[in-house]
Amino acid sequence: MPSTNSSKRTEMTDEYYDDYPKEPIGGGNPYYCCSYCKISDPQINGEIKNHAEWCEYRIKMEAL
Ligand SMILES: [Zn+2]
Repeated sequence: MPSTNSSKRTEMTDEYYDDYPKEPIGGGNPYYCCSYCKISDPQINGEIKNHAEWCEYRIKMEAL
C-alpha cells in the first residue's frame, strides 16, 4: 500500500478571489472597482460575498 501524505489542505475559507474584471473608480479615487457591481477593491477584499448580490462575477463564481 502506498503511504498517504496527510498534509493536504482542504480549507475553502482562505481563498482570495481577485480575478474579476476591474476598472478605475476615478474621481480622484486611487482604487479599482469591480466592473460589474462597481464595489471597490478594498471593500471586496478578495471575498465573493462582498460583491453585490446581483453582480455577474459573484453569480458566476457561486454557480461553480
Ligand atoms: Zn462585483
